[in-house]
Amino acid sequence: MNASTPLFENAQKHLVGGVNSPVRAFKSVGGTPLFVSKAKGAYLYGPDNQRYIDYIGSWGPMILGHANEQVLQAVREAIELGLSYGAPSEKETELAIAVKTLMPSIEKLRLCSSGTEATMSAIRLARGFTGRDVILKFEGCYHGHSDSLLVKAGSGALTLGVPTSPGVPAELAQFTYTLPYNDVAALHQVFSEAGDRIAAVILEPITGNMNMIKPLDGYLEAMRTLCTEHGTLLIYDEVMTGFRVAAGGAQSLQGITPDLTCLGKVIGGGMPVGAFGGRADVMAQLAPEGPVYQAGTLSGNPVAMAAGLETLKGLSAEGFFDKLQNKTDVLTAGLKTAAHEAGVPLCTEMAGGMFGFFFSDAERVTSFEQATACDAPAFNRFFHSMLDQGVYLAPSHYEAGFISAAHTQADLDQTLSAARVAFKAARA
Ligand code: PLP
Repeated sequence: MNASTPLFENAQKHLVGGVNSPVRAFKSVGGTPLFVSKAKGAYLYGPDNQRYIDYIGSWGPMILGHANEQVLQAVREAIELGLSYGAPSEKETELAIAVKTLMPSIEKLRLCSSGTEATMSAIRLARGFTGRDVILKFEGCYHGHSDSLLVKAGSGALTLGVPTSPGVPAELAQFTYTLPYNDVAALHQVFSEAGDRIAAVILEPITGNMNMIKPLDGYLEAMRTLCTEHGTLLIYDEVMTGFRVAAGGAQSLQGITPDLTCLGKVIGGGMPVGAFGGRADVMAQLAPEGPVYQAGTLSGNPVAMAAGLETLKGLSAEGFFDKLQNKTDVLTAGLKTAAHEAGVPLCTEMAGGMFGFFFSDAERVTSFEQATACDAPAFNRFFHSMLDQGVYLAPSHYEAGFISAAHTQADLDQTLSAARVAFKAARA
């Protein structure tokens, strides 16, 4: 019994599973989810005001830390001017310019209210632009919960989609092909068999939804070439990595120019914002310029624009990502050492303010298959020991972690000393 227990019990009577997004329910790790009463800087506070060092950051957006003073001030000022207009306002253009400046592959964009909307709309646009129905995605990549993207593969290079979730019609799922991530041979095979039917390839250019996995050398270059050769659009889902692994997103680290990019999380600084954009000729197909429909009552919401703009301003400061990456380095190196001292096999990944760690004796994890073979029970024991010691990690071994500008050396030291205890607990 902890302070969250009665709140969770009550929530379960009224909300499905007691939560409004499944992973929050702690199903994977067991136990009672932490109910948050407030957040500030690097910390979340429980119902009894107990403090936790937070490595989820609302699943990515809070790169400046929670309740950042500049963001709050911008939001306060915006609120005074009205909560929603349902009509254009200048702040939307300002946010568009800020995004385009950081991500030059985006020539024009559309703002929406979530990452799910961004990817769903980008897929519709790609289908409309190419006149093709098939899309290609990768096992273990998550792109939100629209029907076409909630499809997981069987094995093999060209497998017809099998719905992951009941409720996704098989007739629709058959248009979603799924391949293993980082398998270049499978990519070549599917393009040789069906390239002229594929409207778009969508991927997380660095994955954060099967823990953190980076593309192997040459993989994305091959993908870019195949897409160009076959008239297929390459869609980078940077909802997680955008303004998180670097100011210009994963595409700036990889030197790849996607046709379309999907954004969310950081772009709203904690408010509900998504966006998709890219090639002007493709975006011109979108209503009202073109025939592909997409809309939103709250799209471009002025309060969300204010939070997003201030967040992008904060992370554009000179040296911001060097400092952030340095913290992530200290954390991942420290976790590795602590695991090694406890005799627990562990490998890590990191980029900018994003990290992953695998309970695996592999030198590197580069596939969904390897990710699923990790020691989940050991992770769960580690997770609970960390939580008991006031460190809040993502409650699943399939999730990446996030660090913010507000995390201090003292926070990292406290985290690593908790980890030394937790790795011993994980061994049990
Ligand atoms: N794409 C990626 C890569 C994500 O990680 C997520 C959410 O975690 C989404 C899309 C969906 O975004 P949202 O939860 O805002 O709908």
